[in-house]
Formats: sequence, C-alpha cells, structure tokens
Amino acid sequence: MSRFFSDKYETLVPYTPGEQPKILNLTKLNTNECPFPPSRKALAFAAEHTRPLNLYSDIEGQDVRAALAELCGIGPENLLLGNGSDEILNFAFMAFCDEKKPAAFPDISYGFYPVFADLNRIPYTQIPLRPDFSIAPEDYFDLRRTIFIANPNAPTGLALTREQVREILERNRDSVVVIDEAYVDFGGESCIPLIGAYDNLLVVQTFSKSRSMAGARLGFAAGNAALIADLNTIKFSTNPYNVNSMTQALGLGVLLDEETTRANCRTIMENRARTVEALRALGFTVLPSAANFIFAKSDRISGAEVYRRLRERAVLIRHFDKERIRDYNRITIGTREQMDILLKNIREILEELP
Ligand code: PMP
Repeated sequence: MSRFFSDKYETLVPYTPGEQPKILNLTKLNTNECPFPPSRKALAFAAEHTRPLNLYSDIEGQDVRAALAELCGIGPENLLLGNGSDEILNFAFMAFCDEKKPAAFPDISYGFYPVFADLNRIPYTQIPLRPDFSIAPEDYFDLRRTIFIANPNAPTGLALTREQVREILERNRDSVVVIDEAYVDFGGESCIPLIGAYDNLLVVQTFSKSRSMAGARLGFAAGNAALIADLNTIKFSTNPYNVNSMTQALGLGVLLDEETTRANCRTIMENRARTVEALRALGFTVLPSAANFIFAKSDRISGAEVYRRLRERAVLIRHFDKERIRDYNRITIGTREQMDILLKNIREILEELP
C-alpha cells in the first residue's frame, strides 16, 4: 500500500478471482467460463458491424438492448448494459443500498457481494444457507434490506424456483431484490417475466457463461424502467461508455445466433449429467446443479487435497478455504474431453490413496 492510499480503503479486502495461470496443456475448470468460443457466425457479424473505433461506443447500446428486449419479451427501457455483470452488481449496491438500507445476501454465495458492500461502505447481513446448502425463501421475508441472491447460487449450483423468488418479492415490496442470474441458462428459471409485476425486482444476467463472452465483458440488468433509470444515473456518473464497440457488435452477433447458445447449453447440461454420475460412482457427494459447474466432495480425500493433486496434474478446479464448504470443490463443466481428463485424473488420485 502506498502512503497515499485513502484511509477509507484500509480494511478493504478485494475479491479473489479464480486463477488464470499459464500452465501448458491446462484443463481449466476453475472460473465457469464457456468452453466453446463464440460461433463463426457471431464473430463474422462482429467483424463487419463494429462501429469505427476512433468514435465512442453507442452510449445506450441501442442495438444490443433492442435484440435483448425482443428475446426477453420486455421493453428496451427495461434494460441496461454493463461491462460484465460485476459492474452492474456494483451499480446496484451503489444505487440501492446505504446505512438506512443495508444489504442482505446468503453467507455462502458469490464472493463479490461482501466486497461491493465494503467498497461502498454499506452494512450487510449474511443469511446462513440451510444445512443442505439451500436458500429458504422464508429466511428473506420482511428484511427491510436490499437483497442479493444468485440464482442458481454459486458455488453450490442450487436454484430457487421462480415461485420461490416471487414469495421473496411479495414479502419485500419496499426493498429492491436483485436476482443474479449469471448461471440461469443451464437449467434455472429466469425471473425476467416477473419484472412487469414487481417494481422492486432487478434481474442481472451475463454473456460470460452461456454466451461465450467472458473476455469481451458484457452483462445486463432487466427491471422496472425507474430502477433502470437509477442505474443509468450511476453509470453516467462513473463510466458512460462502459461497453465498448467491439463487445456491443459481438453481443449482437451472439444474440442473432441464439441457436448456438441453446445448443452449447444443452451440451454443457449433458456433460454435467455424465460427470455427476461418474463422480457419484466414485464416492463423491455432488449437489444437484442447475449451473455450468458442480459442487462436489469426496468421502475419502479432503477438498484441499483433491484441488492440490489435480493442479499438479494440470487440471484446475476451484477450492474455497471457507468454513462449511472446505470439503468441497467447485468444478466447471467443460467439453466432454475436458470432463474425461478430469475424471481420469480423479480416478488415478483415488487409486494412489492408501
Ligand atoms: N455473478 C455470479 C454469481 C458470478 O459467479 C459471476 C462470475 N464470476 C458474476 C456474477 C460476474 O460475471 P461477469 O462480470 O463476467 O458478467
């Protein structure tokens, strides 16, 4: 820390992203990226339609918003684009939380929520997941706080139904409820259809997982036009040109090739089912996942040891050294070949055990 760093950040502990190491022939299953690149059709569209880069990007992201509006069955005024969904989540903490309206989120969830809260000096409560790692809707009733729920949750992969989210919305009519649907396309139920009925609902999604664009950085929020206007106030007070022209063109290209997105999601879900079955046969406990990752623990070897031994073999998964989930690892679902490499290495590791 330099001697110039503001005291207000003295205790801030930044988010720890999954590693991006330069290991040769790495099987990378640690950051829930999509194993498939954007389709040729999407890339060709982006190459042709990127606005001249000497000009600023479209500040409103009109074309992407129009395409998304059509896909989601809502109006463009219900949508805001972000530089990844992380940016939008930060905007939501800035816009809808303060001392009088603290935040609440599950104790085991996306690790960025407490960081955004701390960064913006927002008090927060962490609500324990139930012993089976589920989120119980009634734990979120009448909280008088701005609620953040990842659905499906990370790193567990467990999902609430739309009806369960609706119960939470009903019982928090005077608080914003942010549903972070980063992983919804892998078997979850989106709450976007509820935004017309609930002016307190903000749904956040990303192009990083199901739409192969983690490196291009594109996310969006869907909600009541007044909530979107608030987020725009924050955006225009921080970084108005937050989504660059190359990303906007690629985002539009990807949306015009929705078939590929659907097919990729189906493949990931098939690979997930195969992997879960194989791991369970090897004695692993695997939570039922609605995401592009699974959360699994072995009955014979600790979570940290599985992580370490796989890493030695150039297979990277994610381990969280945190109470309650220390025994588990989060494993991204990749291609069939990647999952076969993972399973082969896990079998060998188990065979080496005394
Ligand atoms: N929400 C959740 C639950 C996530 O796991 C992630 C990815 N780390 C994000 C949001 C942010 O994704 P991005 O900024 O790439 O859109």
